Amino acid sequence: MTDIAIIGGGPAGVMCALTASENKSNNIYIFDKNIILKTILPTGGGRCNLAYAEYNFKELSKFYPRGEKFLYSIFSKFSTKDTLNFFEKIGVKTYTQKDNRIFPVSDSSKEVKDALIKEVDKNKNIKKVFENVIELKKEKDKFKIKTNKNLYTFDKVVISTGGKGNGQELAKKLGHNIVDLKPALCSLKTKENNYYSLAGVSVKNITATVFVNNKKQKQLSGDLLFTHFGISGPVVYKISSYFAYSNFDEKNPLKISFNLVNKNFEEFDDIFSKTLKNNAQKDIVNVLSDFIPKNLAYCILEKENIKKDIKAGQLTKKNRQKISKILTEFILNAQKTTLGEEIVTAGGVDLKEIDSKTMESKLIKNLFFCGEVVDIDGLTGGFNLQNCWSCGFVAGKALV
Ligand SMILES: Cc1cc2nc3c(=O)[nH]c(=O)nc-3n(C[C@H](O)[C@H](O)[C@H](O)COP(=O)(O)OP(=O)(O)OC[C@H]3O[C@@H](n4cnc5c(N)ncnc54)[C@H](O)[C@@H]3O)c2cc1C
Repeated sequence: MTDIAIIGGGPAGVMCALTASENKSNNIYIFDKNIILKTILPTGGGRCNLAYAEYNFKELSKFYPRGEKFLYSIFSKFSTKDTLNFFEKIGVKTYTQKDNRIFPVSDSSKEVKDALIKEVDKNKNIKKVFENVIELKKEKDKFKIKTNKNLYTFDKVVISTGGKGNGQELAKKLGHNIVDLKPALCSLKTKENNYYSLAGVSVKNITATVFVNNKKQKQLSGDLLFTHFGISGPVVYKISSYFAYSNFDEKNPLKISFNLVNKNFEEFDDIFSKTLKNNAQKDIVNVLSDFIPKNLAYCILEKENIKKDIKAGQLTKKNRQKISKILTEFILNAQKTTLGEEIVTAGGVDLKEIDSKTMESKLIKNLFFCGEVVDIDGLTGGFNLQNCWSCGFVAGKALV
């Protein structure tokens, strides 16, 4: 018999346990300080966006700001298709949304959790241990685990404690390098506070250009959402992910120029000018709200000291151009991320020290990793759970 400890019963640890349980001479213990798979409940807003419909592994890997090349080998072993087959097999039917995100037909993350737990409970060689692992040591060929309650000895150990557990510390004590942990996929606090009244207002499918030290770095697109303290929404999540290591702050903010109308200045100014002429008797704010949400139109007019109740035909050329400029280059300065609210943690156990064919440590024999604890993180869209299913499977197979 081989005694295996899986530290962390999130999606990655559970996938690893289920895969490793194929070998009935494996004695598997899933340690979790909480109930297992609790972390899956809030995913996808309670609907669990469990994968993304990209079936080419190289294309799929492009959605990971960290880990892209490492994932080639992982996804070639366990792809999106394998994820769907796996869930079908355990009784979770899935569907693909127009935007390629994949959800259970029930739109319920609880269904996903319950189906996985049912599989765990079916396997007599998997045991759940609700204890907090506080120490992990290797002595000769065995691993010693100390929890808040007991001491254990194991032949093999998998660390799958996620981004916020203590797995990185456990790995560090065993000699692993940990790439700095940073929040990613989160909202941003901005220097500009005159848009606070816009909390809840969203502008659909716009482009954002990000500058670092006034140098254009990247262009990203998606919906923008104003919040009480700054900005959020899909395009902001992408920015927070790609710029997770940019070290921006109050003194050195991240400059973001949003094109709220997806046209360049000349194109938009031309359209805007014609629209103003054709609607000369309309209130300016109503004409503007053909292009942007009305609340935002009010805010911009107020900020630019343009009377909200003037008619479109009364807008001077100078003010028209000012508005065209703002709508095509709406600049906000991000000062910090909203720590604690991030969807994923960037950084973690250094991929250079992990074998991508097995997820085994290159430094410590019989020590494995999977999930968010390693230096892999994806954008929103089901990529982070796909990382868990795929790495969990690869580590589990290496234990069979
Ligand atoms: C609000 C929210 C929504 C999300 N939505 C999506 C989505 O729709 N699609 C998507 O792809 N991704 C989503 N994610 C990201 C995704 O949930 C994570 O990437 C994923 O859960 C990571 O899985 P994991 O198994 O690596 O770690 P986790 O899910 O974090 O699980 C780790 C487990 O380890 C346990 N643990 C930690 N330390 C110890 C210890 N010392 N001893 C014992 N147990 C320990 C924890 O209790 C936990 O159960 C979302 C994240 C959040 C926060």
